[in-house]
Amino acid sequence: MSAEEENEAPPDHSLLEHAEEYFQENPPNADPTPVPDFGNADKVVPAWAEGEISTDELVRYGYLSVYDPDELPDEYVPDQSADLDVSSYMPFILSQVDEASEETREWVLDELTPAAPESMNQDELSTLESGSDCGESEEVADVVFTCVTISQNFMVWYNIGFSDGIPGEDTNGNGRPDAIDTIIDSLEAGYRTYTGRGFDHPDNGATGRISVFLGLAPRGQAFVSPVSLGPLSSPNPIAMSANPAQRADGGENKDRYNYLPRHELFHVFQYYYIPDPTAVLPSVNWWMEATAEWATRESIRSGAGDRMYAGTLGDFLNHPGLALNAYEGLGSGRQYGSFIVASYFTEAVSRNFVLDTWRTIKESRNSVEGRVAPIEAIEQVADFYGRDLNDLLLGFAVANYRLDTPSGATFFLRAPAKSGL
Ligand SMILES: [Zn+2]
Repeated sequence: MSAEEENEAPPDHSLLEHAEEYFQENPPNADPTPVPDFGNADKVVPAWAEGEISTDELVRYGYLSVYDPDELPDEYVPDQSADLDVSSYMPFILSQVDEASEETREWVLDELTPAAPESMNQDELSTLESGSDCGESEEVADVVFTCVTISQNFMVWYNIGFSDGIPGEDTNGNGRPDAIDTIIDSLEAGYRTYTGRGFDHPDNGATGRISVFLGLAPRGQAFVSPVSLGPLSSPNPIAMSANPAQRADGGENKDRYNYLPRHELFHVFQYYYIPDPTAVLPSVNWWMEATAEWATRESIRSGAGDRMYAGTLGDFLNHPGLALNAYEGLGSGRQYGSFIVASYFTEAVSRNFVLDTWRTIKESRNSVEGRVAPIEAIEQVADFYGRDLNDLLLGFAVANYRLDTPSGATFFLRAPAKSGL
């Protein structure tokens, strides 16, 4: 699905006219409502949207929905069968923290703020250039981290344990678990890829590095906080589960050590382009997930987890009639599968296409015309390169149709990066 291929057989005029008609009848989704819908797994946000509960209660009950549902008042206990998409739910709940009372803000940040054991000297930690250290903790609560590994750009906090931490195997004898070696390599590789492609990330703040906490997210989940989580935390820390190899369904896949950190790290970079965290959801969510998977593919060209970015491609391709930016609820697969939109436009328009859309979104925050939704940013960037969006979408549809055959799928997924037009 290269740009050349698209040019080699230009669609005839009648097809193009048909496409224009089609996209007029199926226009991109309008900016969604400002209140996201998290489905049946969440009874708190709808109650808040209806004015039944205050922002204080939203923050408290939202936190409890994720970490301690038994503590919720009966009417807000989520359906057992429904899955809550923590990766978008926690950022939304935390994005409202500044609107809550001082008391509630302190309560929720206190619940989430990670602690180092007293045996770790904080002054020494801040001067430690790189290395690993495990302290001793009298009482290991959920958010007390006994180990930290510091690399060039990251501080990774974790615990070692069979049931509630990282496996302790250290086959190369470098003093830190193999899983941490992989996670650090994955983070640093992602960092090099994203900065090398021109992306910026928020200032790291007092810690000087991006904080990663293995154990602040429930099993199988991960999220990037829109707010700092205390003195050990950078402004937009990554929260993963105690052992990120574990999936929410109880299974385990060690390839996740190589894949997940890169996906979450791109969300950290995205916050540079979304200065107002309350605007993160839901209008921007589909492009956040689509481009996080796109970025992960850019970073892992081969090796462990190198196909995980495409795990939900079917959710996108199976519904070609839906609007380009349609999503079926937060946490559904479609927005992740939409990485293919970012990949196609990168190949067909410009190597910098995704960066240009995020820059457009950031710049629009200060413009008189107001914020642009991702779909408008895509249109503006295509326009900047002198390309017509309808024309491009027709090529995209044809390429997806071809992709829907075994040979086409292999061809696309293995296609090398194009030197752009
Ligand atoms: Zn994500």
